[in-house]
Parts: sequence; structure tokens; C-alpha cells
Amino acid sequence: MNALPTPTQGPCVKCGGTQDQGFLLEMAHGNSYSATKWVAGAPEKSFWLGLKLNGKAQYSVQTYRCRNCGYLESYAL
Ligand SMILES: [Zn+2]
Repeated sequence: MNALPTPTQGPCVKCGGTQDQGFLLEMAHGNSYSATKWVAGAPEKSFWLGLKLNGKAQYSVQTYRCRNCGYLESYAL
């Protein structure tokens, strides 16, 4: 499995506290886990799949959480 690009980690933009790397968990079919993805454009409903994703750019979302205030800062890379 390839390592994802890592966003630059800085202090919390709200309070200057230390942030920890993480991601938002998503439950997929078959009880498998995956990271939430950022998808380009407005969501379009599909009868079969819930939402249409045809050809839209997708990026895995990595989210930092501030230890001090809990603020979440997300990067789609
Ligand atoms: Zn903070």
C-alpha cells in the first residue's frame, strides 16, 4: 500500500495548540473501513449507488485534530 502525501503539520489556527494527524472514518459495504474522500463538484443522486461519482476527482481526506480545543483541519491530497 502506498503512503499518502502528508500535509504540513502546523499549530492549531484557532488557539495555537498542538495538532495530531488522523482521518475521518467511513463504513463501507461488507463492514470494511475506509477514509472519507473529498469529491469534486456538487453531489448528484444515483438510483443505484446513492451518489454518482462518474469521473469526478476524488482525494483522501486527512484531518488534524487540535489537542487543546478539538478544532479539525482537513486536507484533501
Ligand atoms: Zn486549538
